[in-house]
Amino acid sequence: MDRARLRRLLDSEIEESARRNPRSRSAYERAGHLFGKVPMTWMNKNAGTFPLYLDGAHGARVSDIDGHEYIDFCLGDTGAMAGHSPAPVVEAVERRYRDRGGATAMLPTEDAEWVGAELARRFGLPRWSFSLTATDANRWAVRLARAVTGRRKILFNSYCYHGSVDESLIVVGEDGRGAMRPGNVGAPCDVALTSRVAEFNDLAGLERELAEGDVAAVLMEPALTNIGIVLPEPGYLEGVRELTRRHRVLLINDETHTFSAGPGGCTGAWDLEPDMLTIGKAIGGGIPSGGYGLSAELADRLLGRADLDLVDMGGVGGTLAGNALSVAAMRATLEHVLTDEAFFHMSALSQRFEEGVRKGIESSGLPWSVSRLGARTEYRFASPAPRTGTESAAVADAELEDFLHLWMANRGVLMTPFHNMALMCPDTTDADVDTHTALFADALAELAG
Ligand code: PMP
Repeated sequence: MDRARLRRLLDSEIEESARRNPRSRSAYERAGHLFGKVPMTWMNKNAGTFPLYLDGAHGARVSDIDGHEYIDFCLGDTGAMAGHSPAPVVEAVERRYRDRGGATAMLPTEDAEWVGAELARRFGLPRWSFSLTATDANRWAVRLARAVTGRRKILFNSYCYHGSVDESLIVVGEDGRGAMRPGNVGAPCDVALTSRVAEFNDLAGLERELAEGDVAAVLMEPALTNIGIVLPEPGYLEGVRELTRRHRVLLINDETHTFSAGPGGCTGAWDLEPDMLTIGKAIGGGIPSGGYGLSAELADRLLGRADLDLVDMGGVGGTLAGNALSVAAMRATLEHVLTDEAFFHMSALSQRFEEGVRKGIESSGLPWSVSRLGARTEYRFASPAPRTGTESAAVADAELEDFLHLWMANRGVLMTPFHNMALMCPDTTDADVDTHTALFADALAELAG
């Protein structure tokens, strides 16, 4: 790749973005009372020099305050996988919040049992508890795992992401041992005290760590989705289950992103048998929601422990968790929007997207790869596709990524910041996918000169 050419192309897209978006640019310049000028500091992760400001969003479309409309393949990095403001969720939210009233009254609603039963049908775990984020679902799952096993450490895959869970910010260091993930802000202690780490797809490494006897649980995505998509090799997930059982370690599947694989995520699609499962983001159709599921045996063991305070000060729970509004939104999303049929449609579109990207890569001759997990597709600047998180992290290319993101955004297509990821929702169309395919081919031609 001609780096000087890439830099010139990126600069010209940055200029074009500033020209196209005077209102967003000015809103950002004026922001003085926000830490980092944005409502959440990660919103500074944008390919240009300012974020686009949201005006509205419906289905697979987002519009900004400069009056542009975008085909949205970002979909809130999965929070809007059901599409933006899907009608059944709007109705359920209005019914709960306006008509009946009461978002958060410290009382259960009957919707919760419906949602628990539906999640049990999809993921195979019979007992559920709710949160408002996937991060909290993971935090609480980790605590329960430590409590029930009496062991202190949690094992993660290198370059995983499970939210801002302290224990998970670990990578395989240069000496092959667990090390702090670079950039970790205000870590409470050395992560090696709380955690162990193995590479994804490395059963020997996992076995070595579990043999130490101090691991309560393995918390993992069945496919990595936050460092590109890294798919499991044949036999890997079976091996993880066999090793965790042999070492009496709980297995927790985080399906927050891998939910894209189907109505029951990878767990449903691949007949996985975790002891716990965590999820967030998409299941509330954009209304803050999340939860964790447990096997009956694990739930009974936990509830049978008189020494564990699951009701009051035990560190598992939040005031607004499981609130009536969140649960109503989850019910509407699961019952009417992210249905089995919707996943079928989304997966077919994603396959079309993948084929379009593959053709673009092949005709450009670039050594890139593309991977898909149901409704989610991601391309990576390496071929063959990386097989571990560390390998995938090593081929990141911020300048190239920024160029491709801005190239798309300046032409009406949004990709996911932090990723080269495209997600399909029930409202995405073939034409949306084909627009991306054409723009992708144009971008590669431009790069080649
Ligand atoms: N788990 C996974 C697999 C994720 O990708 C993320 C966020 N990208 C989280 C958990 C955390 O989600 P949230 O920030 O909504 O709590």
